[in-house]
Amino acid sequence: MSDDKKKTWHGIPREEIPWVPTVDADACIGCQLCYVTCGRGVYEMHQGVADPVSPMECMVGCSTCGNVCPTSAISFPSLDAVWKLERERQIFKTVKKEALHKHEREDTLKARDAAQKAVAQVSTRAKVEVAGEFGDKRFLLRLEELIENKPFDVVNLHFQVPTVKGAKQKAPSFMTFAVTSERQEDVTPFLDQVRALVHDAGLVLVSATPVG
Ligand code: SF4
Ligand code: SF4
Repeated sequence: MSDDKKKTWHGIPREEIPWVPTVDADACIGCQLCYVTCGRGVYEMHQGVADPVSPMECMVGCSTCGNVCPTSAISFPSLDAVWKLERERQIFKTVKKEALHKHEREDTLKARDAAQKAVAQVSTRAKVEVAGEFGDKRFLLRLEELIENKPFDVVNLHFQVPTVKGAKQKAPSFMTFAVTSERQEDVTPFLDQVRALVHDAGLVLVSATPVG
């Protein structure tokens, strides 16, 4: 909050508003609850007694410290004086403008949160597992052709052949790789093209999982 905002209350100079806490030093037992409770730094403790050293920092209309004080040592003026000022100074034009700004700020924050959530839901990487008899299917070449001129890449490619003889006898092998987006875009729609390629090559897509 700016200094200007601190010193006015809806356009009224704060020092003109008679809303400050008063501590009855004889009733105060020095529990420090008001000191800890007040988020505006109104209180300090002096010789075991609460002392409202910055009374103009007190939020107009707040009486929290007075409500929680175990000995009712804190009192406030009547709210009548505040209500009178509200009427006389016609603060509601100012309040209306402040409310408008608050709505605008909240709408902006909501829009930003929604945008951040949308970005968080985008998967820029996906893990793919393919199984089958790769033989002369030129799968790697076709994969290379698929990503050519597209903002995607294939990384961490591993090819597992159970045994060389087994591969010759057309035993299934496994290939794993990751699809990444070069522009940090969602890879999910592109996975459909990878699925189609695997299917077209007569292989089995074990999984195609977006991983964030
Ligand atoms: S809460 Fe009441 S009793 Fe406790 S320190 Fe404050 S004024 Fe004193
Ligand atoms: S009334 Fe509220 S703002 Fe004022 S001194 Fe007490 S806790 Fe702080």
